[in-house]
Order: sequence, then C-alpha cells, then structure tokens
Amino acid sequence: MATNHTNALLKLRHVQQIYTSGQRRFTALQDVNLTVSEGEFVALLGPSGCGKSTLLRIITGLQKPSEGKVLYRDQPLKDVNPHATIVFQTFALFPWLSVFENVDLALKAREIPSNIRTSRALDLIDRVGLGGFETAYPRELSGGMRQKVGFARAMAVEPELLCLDEPFSALDVLSAESLRGELMELWTSGSIPTKAILMVSHSIEEAVFMADRIVVMDKEPGRIIAEVKVELPHPRQRKSDEFQRVVDEVYGMLAGQTEPEAIELGTAPGEQGHTRALPKIAISDLAGLLEYLSELPTNRQDIYRLPQELKVDSNHIFSLIEASEILGFVYVKKGDIILTSLGETFAEASIQARKEIFATRIRRLPLVRWLTTMLTHSENHALDWDVIHAALELEFPKDEAEKQLDTLINWGRYAELISYNDDKALVYLGVSQGQGSVRVRGQSGSHLD
Ligand code: ADP
Ligand code: MG
Repeated sequence: MATNHTNALLKLRHVQQIYTSGQRRFTALQDVNLTVSEGEFVALLGPSGCGKSTLLRIITGLQKPSEGKVLYRDQPLKDVNPHATIVFQTFALFPWLSVFENVDLALKAREIPSNIRTSRALDLIDRVGLGGFETAYPRELSGGMRQKVGFARAMAVEPELLCLDEPFSALDVLSAESLRGELMELWTSGSIPTKAILMVSHSIEEAVFMADRIVVMDKEPGRIIAEVKVELPHPRQRKSDEFQRVVDEVYGMLAGQTEPEAIELGTAPGEQGHTRALPKIAISDLAGLLEYLSELPTNRQDIYRLPQELKVDSNHIFSLIEASEILGFVYVKKGDIILTSLGETFAEASIQARKEIFATRIRRLPLVRWLTTMLTHSENHALDWDVIHAALELEFPKDEAEKQLDTLINWGRYAELISYNDDKALVYLGVSQGQGSVRVRGQSGSHLD
C-alpha cells in the first residue's frame, strides 16, 4: 500500500448536482466536499437515493456536476478521467469471449502492444485468483468468479483511483466474503498500481472491514453528514471488540442523527437499576413496519393510522414501535413515527445483512449482553433454559420471565448470536451445528478466513 501522505488525488469542492424533470428541480447532491488521498481506502455509506452513484459518475468524469469543482491531482477534470475506473455491482462481460479474451480486450483498448499483452492478461487473471480458468466462458463461472473477471478488467486499465459501486452486493454471502478478502490482499500487499480506492457500500460491516475512512451520507438533499476514521490494522477481525466498537459508532451515526434523545436501555439483571423488559414482537412484524415506512415518500406516518394501515391491533403497534425505537430504527415525534437512516438501511438490506444489523443493535441491550456473557463463561458455552429462567425470575414475575426468555431466544437466534435446542431445552452461544444455519465452506474454489 502506498504511504499515507496527504498527497491528494481527488478533491471535490462544493459539488452540487441538480436534476430537473419537468417543473421539478431536485437536489441530488448538496455542497459535497471530499478529498481522497494516495494510500487511502474510503467507503461511502448512506441510504439509497442519497447520491452515491451520482457522486462516482462525477468523480470519474462520466457526468459534470451542476456546480462546484472536481480536481484530479489539482487539475480541473474536463472529460472522462483516464486515471479512474468504476467497477459496478454486476460486471458486463462479453458472453462469447473467454476469461482471457475478456481481459485481453481491456488491454487492447488501452493500446498495449500485443507482444506484452498476453503475459499481462495472464498475470491479471492469476492475481485475482482465476488461474486455470483462462479458457472458461462467463456462463461457466459463478457470480463471484465473474465479478473477479470484472476486477481483472478494471485492473487492466491500471487505474490510480479505483471506484467500486456496491461491488459485492449482487453476490452470495460466501463469494462476497472471499472476494472482499482477495481485494484486501491485493490492496494491502501493494501488488496493484491502484493508489486509492473509493467504494460505495450498503453494509456497515463491509465498510468497517475494508476502509480507512468512512464517509456517511444522508438524502434529501444528498449530502455528507459525518466521517469516521478506521484505524484498525489489516486483516481485521470482525469478532474483535475494537471492530465492534467502530461498527457501533457508525451505526450510531446512521441511527442517531435524527434521534432526539438517548433511548433508555436500562440495566442488566443483577446490576443496580431497572431491567427494561424487551417488547414481545416478531421480527417479521418489525421488518413489515420498517418496509412500510420506507415505501412512504416522507418515511413517516401518524401513529394513529398504523393499526388500520398494517392491520394489527394498537397494543401490538405500540410494542413494535417500542422495539424499533430501542433498536434505533425509528423515532417518535408529535404523534408521528419517523424512520431513521438505519431503519431504512435495514428495510432495504438482504436477509443476511438484516441479521448483521439486528445483531449489532441487540448486542447493546443489557439483557442480551447479560445472556451472552453468561453463556461465554459456561461449560460448552451452553445453559439450561431453566437456569436462565430462574435468573430472570429475580427481575420479572414468573410469566413475564418466561416471555422475556422467549423473546431473547427469538431475537438472539435471528441475529445468529445464540441457538436453542428445543429437545434438550439448552441455549447455546453462537450458531451450533445441526441447527440449519451451518455454514458451508469452499465454494467456487475460494477460501474464507
Ligand atoms: P444512490 O446511488 O445513493 O442510490 P443515485 O446517485 O443513484 O443514489 O441517485 C440519487 C437521486 O438522484 C435519486 O433520487 C435518483 O432517483 C436521482 N437521479 C439519479 N440519476 C438521475 C438522473 N439522471 N435524472 C434524474 N434524477 C436522477
Ligand atoms: Mg447507487
């Protein structure tokens, strides 16, 4: 990796993008100021529609902003930036060309002489981990492998600034994870000429895993609202406390920007103070509420309308609102329920990404922390249902203790923090074997860490 001097590659100054359709003028980007320096990996996070893709098009010169300056190495960008490339979510490969020919074509387009082209193409294919697949056709490759060919083609251009627009979001979980690892390997080992990476991401964990700096955007109008530096060494350990701390900080920015006051989380059983009961809700109902709000143009609704709109009784609505508030997905103001950016991120996320968001949010809850800590210190990381129930009975009446434990198990299972064996009435830490969520290793010949 290049050293972290303040050698600016890209500078955006007061960039504004206005789109007009008919009478309507729409501010897609407002006063965006951003500098990307040599050696930096910057991630852009924000709800959909906040102008992330627009920003990448402006940076690469595919589009001129309505106002403001785009400087590349201190020179105003006049045309398409020859030093920058975008990798999109799904890469358009030529289906009738082999892996080798697809990469070779990108070199040909750069007018690389034919005598060095072949070895260059083979080398690129090898570097993205596709050695042995040179003669394969796109239809024979998995989604992850096709995306690797996309990376090889982007790298063939030897861009100084590599822009990635949600490059992993069209892939299955395993391919995405191995491709992330391989990109980080290429980047941190300095074996590619790329000087800086700017990646649009939908996943907070992904951004914290990869980037040196996270730029958080919000919409209406699209703008930058915060920045976080990530100073953890690579390769980063997702399970480590430091990692989780940064993830929490970023979540807080997305959830907290509109949150008027800190939510009272209460204390854990055995600690001094009040243990706040968890609202008894099903996660599918919570997801339903957030999806409903995310589809409204203003992302808000009068609470009194919800029972009819969602066809659930009002007591249940209040539990759903309480749960969403505790998790930072909504806030309530003057009788309206309002979706936060984090709530919107959840509503738009894939199944696995939802689980990750949910897990991060419930780890903050004293009851969840209490349960996982107890499990961590128990033999085989497991405890009898009865034992946990008895401990909860010190805090709650008998019936309530049972309901609390049910909710804890449901939420913890969904988040893949704990698992539960119904026959043995045992609660385990983590995802245990034979529970239906066992992870399979080693698809498409790539490896996980
Ligand atoms: P993101 O990538 O963050 O989802 P985009 O940059 O794609 O956001 O879009 C930002 C906003 O600008 C969206 O509301 C989108 O509908 C609008 N938009 C994007 N491109 C155009 C365009 N060419 N004309 C009009 N509106 C556009
Ligand atoms: Mg986009």
